[in-house]
Amino acid sequence: MDDTSAATGREAGIGPRTRLECKICWSVYDPAVGDEVWQIPPGTPFTDLPPHWTCPNCSAQKQSFLLLDD
Ligand SMILES: [Zn+2]
Repeated sequence: MDDTSAATGREAGIGPRTRLECKICWSVYDPAVGDEVWQIPPGTPFTDLPPHWTCPNCSAQKQSFLLLDD
C-alpha cells in the first residue's frame, strides 16, 4: 500500500474517455464533448476539469458524479 494510490483511488477508474453522470440531475459529462457552459474544450478528461468545476445543470460538485460504464 502506498499513500498515493489511496489519495487518488477514486480517480483511478477515470480514463481520458470516461463519462460521468451527475447523481443529482443525471447530466452526463462526456470528455469527447467537453462542457460549453464552463468553456471546457472537447477532449478534456474529467480528471482535468478545474477544481471549482461543478455540474453545469445543477451545480453539484465533482464528488456527486458517478462513473458511467461503457
Ligand atoms: Zn447535476
